[in-house]
Amino acid sequence: MPRMSYVNGRYLHHAQAMVHMEDRGYQFSDGIYEVIAFYNRRLLDGALHAKRLWRSLRELQIAGPMSERALALVMQEVIARNDRTDGTLYMQISRGVARRDHPFPKSARPSVVMAVTGPKSPKEKEVREGVSVITAPEQRWARRDIKSVSLLPNVLAKQAATAAGAREAWLVDENGMISEGAVSNNAIVGAKQEIITHPANENIQGGITRDVVLTLARKAGMKVVERPFSLKEALGAKEAFLTSTTSNVLPVVRIDGKPVGNGRPGPVTQKLLGLYHEHIYRETGKRWS
Ligand code: PLP
Repeated sequence: MPRMSYVNGRYLHHAQAMVHMEDRGYQFSDGIYEVIAFYNRRLLDGALHAKRLWRSLRELQIAGPMSERALALVMQEVIARNDRTDGTLYMQISRGVARRDHPFPKSARPSVVMAVTGPKSPKEKEVREGVSVITAPEQRWARRDIKSVSLLPNVLAKQAATAAGAREAWLVDENGMISEGAVSNNAIVGAKQEIITHPANENIQGGITRDVVLTLARKAGMKVVERPFSLKEALGAKEAFLTSTTSNVLPVVRIDGKPVGNGRPGPVTQKLLGLYHEHIYRETGKRWS
């Protein structure tokens, strides 16, 4: 079965899936996106992703391209037209195609594209032994809560991590405070086993995985503290981990080459990963061994 994508009402072979050069997503980063995992062809936390997507559209005053129900049906149809049981759905909605001019065009219709890729889960060894992160300067705009396609600072930070052989870059502001990762949220575990993570405000992208993991943790009676933490605090923490749609819950055992805690994944992170796997199973029927 060939790889099929969706572009503005049409299901196309991926190689033919194109938008116009004057699409405002391409010229101005004037658009938003979502990345949603699916297992057994069922979207994981689809309703939460849809809620964030519609909020991002509203924040940027981009008109909804179709009804919420229709958009959900298109997502399912793209998955159905690809030969993958488990994978990742990428969706992008821009303000549309119009002659290049900064103010919003009067008549453009939003462009919608969707593509499916394989699952991007971390390697077994990364989950078992944990991963390294580096730090990089926070250089993003002040509305990081909007899932905008304007990702250049994230790209540069993630590239720095890749070049350094690290899994992720944690973004540190001029006061030494960590906001989140280039492509993930993060958390540390304090002396009393409490999970400390940046509040979901305009300084971070409120990850769906973050939200779900915190809900699961609270339900399991674990203590969660939503407040910013510094690099210094992270280096002295008992454990650290990151969360994202593609990484699930991933232990972080080194920051800039220095060990976190005893340099191995800790019990709080492992418990959260177990709870998250159970959540995936409940939602989609996918079992993790
Ligand atoms: N923060 C940033 C900057 C991201 O790019 C992502 C995911 O791509 C996340 C956090 C995690 O969000 P989610 O859990 O919804 O995948």
